[in-house]
Amino acid sequence: MGIYGVIGYPIAHSMSPLMHNREFQALKLDHYYTAFNIHPDDLAKAIESVRILEIRGLNVTLPHKVKVMDYLDEIDEEARLIGAVNTIINRDGHLIGTNTDGEGYLRSLLTIVDSLYAKKVILIGAGGAARAIATTLARQGVQALDVANRTAAKAEELAKHVNRFADCKALALKDAEEQLENYDIIINTTSVGMSPNVEEAPIRLDHLKTGAVVSDLIYNPLKTKLLQQAEEKGAVIHNGVGMFVYQGALAFEKWTGIKPNIERMMDTVIKKLGG
Ligand code: NAP
Repeated sequence: MGIYGVIGYPIAHSMSPLMHNREFQALKLDHYYTAFNIHPDDLAKAIESVRILEIRGLNVTLPHKVKVMDYLDEIDEEARLIGAVNTIINRDGHLIGTNTDGEGYLRSLLTIVDSLYAKKVILIGAGGAARAIATTLARQGVQALDVANRTAAKAEELAKHVNRFADCKALALKDAEEQLENYDIIINTTSVGMSPNVEEAPIRLDHLKTGAVVSDLIYNPLKTKLLQQAEEKGAVIHNGVGMFVYQGALAFEKWTGIKPNIERMMDTVIKKLGG
């Protein structure tokens, strides 16, 4: 039997155990996935335990995604570019860090858009999730990938990083609102609108371009205020469930060598969220 899990702090509300265990059962794999609540002071010991207990794979979530890199044997290129790890693979005690967040988001987005080639994209927010997504999307041939954030310094820092791969400028949220008709895809990567603050939206959509895609990383609620407003304006909307499922599915495949069933994983998560 293989043991897998997720480390975070706090971790109580993670849906990853349910999603992975359902898939292990459906595929008749004798594995088990659990959530480990790891205080930041215990991170080094927790990673050493992965080797000792022969835990075969871990997901890593807040606040450990950056610090955990100090304790691994190898960091792959994707995680190195992003600067954070969300998945650890244990190959006979050799711990490899990778990151499936950006690729997971991209795969989900590509279920509703054909390509990102020559598209103008704007990210609202400049935190950890924004950095992962920006690093992946910026390498898809976009015309521009701009960043708007409440804290200007963080937007500028992310823009500097993205500029290695694509044209990127940092904007204030107000300027992003006024220039919104320039963008084909608008992606909310902030936590604004997440339950219980479901009446909040990170930006106004008055200048939304006709036919734009509005995407929100949040999946609780399934349709945020931002997505409701975008839908009313005729936009194509996209929520965060797909990113969550695909990042998990990519980790599952790296650990087990088996492709999980995306529709079944999606169904498990959406049902759990009451959708
Ligand atoms: P993070 O690193 O803490 O970044 C939070 C971002 O939200 C920052 O840009 C922050 O702006 C902004 N923000 C927070 N409160 C705000 C407010 N009241 N007004 C304006 N901006 C505000 O968090 P993260 O890890 O990037 O996660 C961000 C969101 O993505 C969360 O909702 C999380 O649930 C979601 N997420 C979803 C998935 C998925 O699988 N679907 C995966 C990862 C994350 P400042 O810089 O100004 O503080």
